[in-house]
Amino acid sequence: MICINCCRETDCLYVEYSNNHIRLTDCTDCHDVVDQYVEIDNVLLFIDLLLLKPGAYRHLVYNSLELELSKFPDEAAFESAPKHEGMATSVQESNNGKIGRVRRIGRWGRRLRNWFVKFDKLNRIWVIITAFEVYLTWVSEERKFQENGSDALVASMLSQGALGQYMCFAVYCAIDFMVLHNTTYCLLVALFNWGSKIKYAKYVVSYTVLLSYGAKIYPILMLIWPYDTLLTTGILKIVANLYVVEALKIVTNQSYAAIISLFSLVFLIRSLTVKPLVSLVVTKGDVMLSWQYARAEYHQVWHKLINPLFSS
Ligand SMILES: [Zn+2]
Repeated sequence: MICINCCRETDCLYVEYSNNHIRLTDCTDCHDVVDQYVEIDNVLLFIDLLLLKPGAYRHLVYNSLELELSKFPDEAAFESAPKHEGMATSVQESNNGKIGRVRRIGRWGRRLRNWFVKFDKLNRIWVIITAFEVYLTWVSEERKFQENGSDALVASMLSQGALGQYMCFAVYCAIDFMVLHNTTYCLLVALFNWGSKIKYAKYVVSYTVLLSYGAKIYPILMLIWPYDTLLTTGILKIVANLYVVEALKIVTNQSYAAIISLFSLVFLIRSLTVKPLVSLVVTKGDVMLSWQYARAEYHQVWHKLINPLFSS
């Protein structure tokens, strides 16, 4: 847990007395209250998130997340426990393979259930944002295709039935999220050596990206009101990306230049990997056809990068 003002580590956010009265802890470094959001209502917290208040982000992704995850056994302890069980069962497995397999499946089932319980809050936010994102991606890709009709992969996705199309765009968004979260975390570690002293560093990055990515669902309002022009959609996309950049800057304490270069690198990696991976799923593993789609995508990315340089 940290002080949301100066980011200094702290042992506790408040002290609870026997009459359910709590006293907020003061920071030893900046002498301010370490986390006043402990007492603030969720509605006000949500408004502060929209206003990109640094304290609101730090409260949620550091303090609130750590309090939530600390209710469950540590992953290392959880992983070490089944090792003894595994050694014991290995003897039984040699005697009776069937019982060993059943126990192994049971163990994996328990781990999966524990994971879902532990990360319930993150998973709920992920599902809500993905559901909106699938619909928005579907609409925007369909419109783009109707305007220029040059994307062979999107043509193949749109040639399927309604359920097939939804599943294709759901896979597209899931892969996109996976690449975005993992690439951002890996680059933060590799380029800035960030997170070595943070207990849940990977989940801190995931939570930050999820919270700031919420701004990307604003365009859902454009489908209700008649303002869905290319200009307004473009402006909203830029605003959503600025939210992600600002949120990552608040949480990681890196400079704007560092976060913008990291985000540009993430954008390039996403452009080069997401559609080829989706094409492998859409073509049901047809490598040759996927390679054709990927080549067309690389061609488009190359033109998007090169054209502005020569036209300026
Ligand atoms: Zn402080």
